[in-house]
Amino acid sequence: MPPKLRYLLIGLFLWAQSAAGSGTVVVLDPGHGGKDPGTIWGGVSEKTVTLSIALKVEKLLRARGIKTALTRRSDLYRSLTSRKAVANSFRRSIFVSIHCNADRSHRARGIETFYCGQQGYRLAKSIHSILDNNTTTTDRGLKRADFSVLRNTNGAAALVECGFLTCPSERRLLTTEIYQQRVASAIASGVIRSLNR
Ligand SMILES: [Zn+2]
Repeated sequence: MPPKLRYLLIGLFLWAQSAAGSGTVVVLDPGHGGKDPGTIWGGVSEKTVTLSIALKVEKLLRARGIKTALTRRSDLYRSLTSRKAVANSFRRSIFVSIHCNADRSHRARGIETFYCGQQGYRLAKSIHSILDNNTTTTDRGLKRADFSVLRNTNGAAALVECGFLTCPSERRLLTTEIYQQRVASAIASGVIRSLNR
């Protein structure tokens, strides 16, 4: 094989490896589903918003050659055990759970990202910092939580609360394609940054 062609092929191989996160599967977990709608305010169900954002994140990651899996891709109920089982069925995976928040006082707004453990912290930080840059809402910060889906996944895991459905202005935003795309793009960029580290 001519040396130039060999270098080109090696270059392409390295690029593909980096683009695909070295074989890591990104498992996206749209919160709730089916009989579990999550929070419902003003006619908007959390399960619908989380699925729509997750499908957008999947599209963005796949366009970059990154392998993905979803814990659900329609309005289906999934137990927490089956959600983490999807992540743990792959040799190497990272897990991103997508949710919307609620606050009975209706005053709370903003984004917050949860993690459990050191590798989860790096993933959550990467997603959260880009999400904070891409949105103008309140930064409620990175938080450690002992959620079962974060604790029981083998790889890095993060749970993103994309905004409050109890806050009328945030609820309106979260139902628009433009805002969902902005949130999805931030999550995808955070995942890519953490894969390339
Ligand atoms: Zn939720």
